[in-house]
Amino acid sequence: MFNIYDSTEEDFNNYFLSINEKTFRSKQLINWLYRKKVTDFYLMSDIKKALQEKLNQDFIIPSLECITKNISQDGTTKFLFKLADENLIETVLMHQEYGYSLCVTSQVGCNMGCMFCASGLKKKVRNLEVAEMVLQVLTVEQLTGVKITHIVVMGIGEPFDNYLNLLKFLNIVNHPLGLEIGQRHLTVSTCGLVPKIYEFAEFPLQVNLAISLHAPNNELRNKLMPINKSYNIEELFKALKYYYNKTNRRITIEYILINNVNDNQKEARELADLLRGMNAYVNLIPYNEVLENPFKRSTIERQRQFYDTLKKQGINVTLRKEQGSDIAAACGQLRSKYLQ
Ligand code: SAH
Repeated sequence: MFNIYDSTEEDFNNYFLSINEKTFRSKQLINWLYRKKVTDFYLMSDIKKALQEKLNQDFIIPSLECITKNISQDGTTKFLFKLADENLIETVLMHQEYGYSLCVTSQVGCNMGCMFCASGLKKKVRNLEVAEMVLQVLTVEQLTGVKITHIVVMGIGEPFDNYLNLLKFLNIVNHPLGLEIGQRHLTVSTCGLVPKIYEFAEFPLQVNLAISLHAPNNELRNKLMPINKSYNIEELFKALKYYYNKTNRRITIEYILINNVNDNQKEARELADLLRGMNAYVNLIPYNEVLENPFKRSTIERQRQFYDTLKKQGINVTLRKEQGSDIAAACGQLRSKYLQ
């Protein structure tokens, strides 16, 4: 038995060929599953009866169990899902001016160990299956009735540590007969797994890449993000330049502002120096406080000063408006755990 939501069009093609069927069946199936959201092969009326039966034997069409749904004052909605093996994950739906954006989780727990993040308090238990990522999208659409227009793979986990499943997921949600989420509406965020940045430069879809930088020098980044000891800032930026030259896609740099830790004028100037001449765009994110660690959000004044310094140095920068922090649904607040 295969899980139907694990399959790309190419996987379906191989399957249909293996049972002596024509590959146009793949397109029919994708249309039923993702456009019409039909979860019963016997309702797929343009598929002949014998093939419906064969599909029913060979595939399962699973669902994702929603345990809780929390709605923030700003409309951001956080879903706690239970996976088939009882593990828990969180997914966040955000209403933006341009549409609905879904923050998708890629792993149960996370091994990256960033000092400031709640998601890594629980070590990685396992990677999510492709279907478990796809089902976050389908289930949220089904539960809310909204059409998701953008996806950010910025939930729990390090997507580049679940690389092949991530690529399949991106292919599936982008499929023009299915969910049809445009390539430029898809964003993947990494803490900096350098070898995967080189590989991702070869990925044919024009997906956005975001880098969680959070410190402009190795001394500070080593303290905050253990990954920096494996791939330091020089190696990271070499990979980013390669990626940019290869893809011509502008890179997003995420930088959280933690009071008196990485938000001094010294760091602002170092960050500007690091990015000068690069086609990058900095997203400053006021830190969301997490119970288990001592870090504090930068004061409004320090946020402003940091922003102004980057701006004056000609860096493309925005100070992100936060969403969902009242329900612990903001960046770095998601966990593989039931909190209340
Ligand atoms: N592992 C990937 C995907 C997670 S994205 C990555 O690191 O990019 C989640 C983003 O929120 C990352 O940029 C992460 O560094 C940031 N983050 C973690 N804890 C945070 C917090 N408490 N407040 C604000 N942002 C946080």
